[in-house]
Amino acid sequence: MVGQARASVIVAGGGIGGLSAALGLARKGCKVTVLEQAEVFGEIGAGIQIGPNAFHAMDYLGVGEQGRKVAVYIDRLVMMDGKSGEEIAHIPIDEPFRKRFRNPYAVVHRADLHGVLLDACRAHADVTLVNRQRVVSYENTASGAKVRTESGDVFEADAVIGCDGVRSKIREQLTGGDALRLSGHVAYRAVLPIDKMPEDLRWNAATLWAGPKCHMVHYPLQGWKTFNLVATFVTDVNHVGSNEPGTREEVLSRFGDIVPRARKLLEVPTEWRRWVLGDRDPIENWTDGRVTLLGDAAHPTHQYFAQGACMAMEDAVCLADRVEKHPGDFNAAFVSYQENRIVRAYRVVLSSRMLGKMYHAEGVERKIRNSVLGAKSPDDFYNSLEWLYGGTGLAG
Ligand SMILES: Cc1cc2nc3c(=O)[nH]c(=O)nc-3n(C[C@H](O)[C@H](O)[C@H](O)COP(=O)(O)OP(=O)(O)OC[C@H]3O[C@@H](n4cnc5c(N)ncnc54)[C@H](O)[C@@H]3O)c2cc1C
Repeated sequence: MVGQARASVIVAGGGIGGLSAALGLARKGCKVTVLEQAEVFGEIGAGIQIGPNAFHAMDYLGVGEQGRKVAVYIDRLVMMDGKSGEEIAHIPIDEPFRKRFRNPYAVVHRADLHGVLLDACRAHADVTLVNRQRVVSYENTASGAKVRTESGDVFEADAVIGCDGVRSKIREQLTGGDALRLSGHVAYRAVLPIDKMPEDLRWNAATLWAGPKCHMVHYPLQGWKTFNLVATFVTDVNHVGSNEPGTREEVLSRFGDIVPRARKLLEVPTEWRRWVLGDRDPIENWTDGRVTLLGDAAHPTHQYFAQGACMAMEDAVCLADRVEKHPGDFNAAFVSYQENRIVRAYRVVLSSRMLGKMYHAEGVERKIRNSVLGAKSPDDFYNSLEWLYGGTGLAG
C-alpha cells in the first residue's frame, strides 16, 4: 500500500515495459490505468532473447512461472563467421550458467511474453486497460499529473509513466525533443515454420552469423514449432522506421558475402518485415515532477545486446520498489528510480553500439574479433556478463 490513500498512476503505452510497470505498481497498491494507442493490446510476431535478468524481473513481478512456461531453453549462444562458415566462439548457457546466474537464458515469442504480462494485468483488480488512446501531452498539476490524448480526452492521476516507446510523446515534451540517432542499420525479421528451417541449421542455440556490414540471427521459438530469423545490414537510409514491409531482393543483396549454408536461409521467408534502427544518446534526467519515463521511451537501444525489453522489465521492478519506498512522494520515487537505472540502462545502450560494430567487422578488424572472442573460455564470458545477468535492477 502506497501512502495513506490509494495512489493512482497513468501508464502511457501498453508494450512489455508499460504492462510490467502497471503490474509492478499495482502489486504495490497503486491503481493503474494503461493507455494504449493500438486497437488491441498485443505484440508483433517475432522472437526475443531474454537473459537471466529478465527472469529475475518476472519473478519480482509475480509472473516468473508463467514466463518460464512460454520460453524455449536453448543451450548455447553461438557466433559464426559468415565469411568462412567457421565457428568464432560459443557461450554454453546450460546448467552451470543457469546455476551461476540463478535463472536461465531463453528465447520467447514476443506475443507470448506480452501475453503473460497482459493476463496478469487483466487478472489484477487495480489495473485498467484502455485502448485507442494515443497520448499526446502531459501536465503536472497542483496535486498530481494528467495526460491529454489525441481524441481530446484527459486522464488525471497522482503520477504518469511514459512507456510509449522509441518515439515517445512524453519524452518529446519532457526533453524538448532530442533527436533519434540513426544507426544506418536495417533489420529484417521473419518467423519460419520449423519444416521450412534447413535441417542442418536447426540448432538448439541463438546463432549469430557475422558478415561484412551484415549479420543474421536465428533461434527456435514456440516449443520448437517455429524459428525466428533476424537479418541486419548497414545502409545509408536517412529515416527511422518500424514494421514496414520489406523485400527479399533487398535482404539478399546485402548478404552476398556470406557462405551459402547461411545465405540459403534468407531465401526461405516469403514475407519479411523491416525495421530501420535508431537509438538515442544518454540523457541525465527522465523525470519532470510526477512524470517519468521507462523502457524504450527512456533509453532506446539497438538490439545487439538483446536487452531492450529486459531493461524495460528491470525498470518496472526498480520503479515499483522506489514508489513503495517513497510513499506519497512520486517525485522522490522517480528521482531515486532514475538514479538507480541510468548507468545500467545506458551501459546497455552504449555496449549495443559497440557490439553492432563488432558484428559487422571486416578486414583486419574481423581477424582481431575472431582471435579475441575465440580465445575466451566460458568463465571469461560469464565474468564479463556478471554485471548484467547477475543484476536485478534493484541494486544501488
Ligand atoms: C529487431 C529487434 C530485435 C530485438 N530483440 C530484442 C531481444 O532479443 N531482447 C530484448 O530484450 N529486446 C529486444 N529488442 C528491443 C525491444 O523490442 C524493446 O526494447 C522493447 O520492446 C521496449 O519495450 P517498451 O514497452 O519500452 O516499448 P514498445 O515495445 O515500443 O511499446 C510501446 C507501446 O506504447 C504504445 N504507444 C506508443 N506511443 C503511444 C502514445 N503516444 N500513446 C499511447 N500508446 C503509445 C505502442 O503502441 C506500444 O504498445 C529488439 C528490438 C528490435 C527492433
